[in-house]
Amino acid sequence: MAANIIDGKKIAESVRNEVKEAVAARIAAGLPAPALATVLVGENPASQVYVASKHKACAEVGIRSIGHVLPENASQQEVESLVKALNADPEVSGILVQLPLPKHLDEEAVLSAIDLHKDVDGFSPVNIGRLAQKGREPLFVPCTPAGCMLLIESAGMKLSGANAVVLGRSNIVGMPVALLLVKANATVTIVHSRTREIPEVCRQADILVAAIGQPEFVKADWVKPGAVVIDVGINRISDPTAKRGTRLVGDVDFKGVSKVASAITPVPGGVGPMTIALLMRNTLRAAQLADPQ
Ligand code: NDP
Repeated sequence: MAANIIDGKKIAESVRNEVKEAVAARIAAGLPAPALATVLVGENPASQVYVASKHKACAEVGIRSIGHVLPENASQQEVESLVKALNADPEVSGILVQLPLPKHLDEEAVLSAIDLHKDVDGFSPVNIGRLAQKGREPLFVPCTPAGCMLLIESAGMKLSGANAVVLGRSNIVGMPVALLLVKANATVTIVHSRTREIPEVCRQADILVAAIGQPEFVKADWVKPGAVVIDVGINRISDPTAKRGTRLVGDVDFKGVSKVASAITPVPGGVGPMTIALLMRNTLRAAQLADPQ
C-alpha cells in the first residue's frame, strides 16, 4: 500500500499561523513584538540565503528581525562581544548565530556565550544537556529536531515503546532527535558511520529518521512495512532530465520506500519547511520568557 505523504509545508504553515496569532495578541495586549537578532559571520552564500529566509519568515508572522553581519576574518572576541551585547539588549528576544562559523572560530564558545533565555536555536551546551537529562527540560528545543517530532506525531504513531532508529548523530539533527525520541519513551538506536549491518538495524524501526546527508541511502528493503519514515536529508544530485540539470533528493529512496512505509516525508516539502516555522515558535517563546511575570 502506498504511504501517506506527510505534508511538511502544511504543518509548518499551521505552526507559523499559530505564532502569527500569538504575536498579534501580544501586541494587542500592549506587549512588545518578539525580536530575533541574527549573526552572520562571513559571506557563505548558503548561509546568506538561510538568514534571508529567516528574516522573511519573521516579517510574515510579525516578529521583528535585526541582522548583524561580521566579516569573514572577525575574531573570536568580536563575535563573542556582539553576542554579549545582544544578550544585554532588552529589545532582543532571541539570538541566532548562523552555522557553520568560519573555521578559525570556536563554535562551542560562541554558542555557550548566548544567554540561555535567548538561545532560540537550542544549541547551547546547557540546553542540549538538559535535553539529555531525565526530569529536566531545555528552555528551547533545536528547530529541525522539534520539527521532526511534530511530523512523527502528525502520522499518528504512538511513540511510547516504539522502536526508533536515527541515522546520523550530528549535534544539530541526529543527536537531538534521538534525545527527543528517548524523552518520548521510544527505544532508540543511533546509526553512524561505524555502525555495522545498517540495513538490519533499520529493519527493526517503527520510526526511521534519516539525517546523514547521503542521497537516497535508505532502500525499500531496509524498511519495516508500516514504519513512519522522516527524511531530513537535503542532497543535490545531477539529473540531465531536470531543467537546471540537478534536483534535490533526501537520504531515503522515496520512490521505493513510499511503497513500504505507512507514512513518509517528501524532499523537498517535508522536514525543510518545519525548521524555520519552529524557529518562529522559539522566538515567540523567548519573548514570552522575558515578559513581566
Ligand atoms: P553531518 O554531516 O553533521 O552528520 C552526518 C551524520 O551522518 C554523522 O553522524 C555521520 O556519522 C553519519 N553518516 C554519514 N555518512 C554515513 C553513512 N554512510 N552511514 C552511516 N552514517 C553516516 O550532517 P547534518 O546532521 O548536519 O545533516 C544531515 C542531513 O540533513 C544533510 O543532508 C543536511 O543537508 C540535512 N539537514 C536538513 C535540515 C532541514 O531543515 N531539513 C537541517 C539540517 C540538516 P559519524 O558521526 O560517524 O561521522
